[in-house]
Amino acid sequence: MNTSVLLVEDDPELRHTLRQALSVEGYAVRSAASLADAQAQCAALAAMRQLPALVLLDLGLPDGPGQRLLARLRAAERGAVVAVIVISAQHSEEEKIRLLDGGADDYLVKPFGVGELLARMRVVLRRRGQVQFAATTHYEVGALCIDLAAHRVSLAGEPVHLTPTEFKLLACLTRQAGCVLTHRQLLTQVWGAEFTEHTHYLRLYMAQLRAKLEANPADPQRLLTEPGVGYWLAE
Ligand code: CA
Repeated sequence: MNTSVLLVEDDPELRHTLRQALSVEGYAVRSAASLADAQAQCAALAAMRQLPALVLLDLGLPDGPGQRLLARLRAAERGAVVAVIVISAQHSEEEKIRLLDGGADDYLVKPFGVGELLARMRVVLRRRGQVQFAATTHYEVGALCIDLAAHRVSLAGEPVHLTPTEFKLLACLTRQAGCVLTHRQLLTQVWGAEFTEHTHYLRLYMAQLRAKLEANPADPQRLLTEPGVGYWLAE
């Protein structure tokens, strides 16, 4: 079955271009040009238990902000399994963080290339598919091998000793490899909800992880920074 995508975009030209590109890639595409239309389609699809696998969501819609659809989806019973990529011309760091914290899977600033969009869609869908069944527990890219189940990390075959906190942080990044996790998400998962402001903990522990896992910690190739937003583990 073709992966279903709901494209929410009011710009007719962009909607047409994306619709065509996604169809060529084999996606089953529906589109909505307004917030009301998108919400109505989601409600109808949810009633049939056929919510799309992915929503591409423009924020500046003529009848209201796209953020409203994201909030609704995340509050809905089965909406949590829907991947959401925000496509927007707005690109303040604060807004990006708010969206990721609010449950968006990724964020693409307009204008973007179709190739990049397709690549991001594949990452997000793969991750969603994994999350639905089981998160990534085994990671092996280049010389780095992480086995969460066995609690083992090795670099070029040599075991790497991590402290419990370092391991916990690396485990969070590994489970969602390829996706940015915000400071808030990481602090909550590793230290707890009362530590969301303690971004210096993250800086410290990321530096320690990089010292142990990167060839050149000053130029990390695995444990990457999304400036002002968070961190991610390269796929
Ligand atoms: Ca728009």
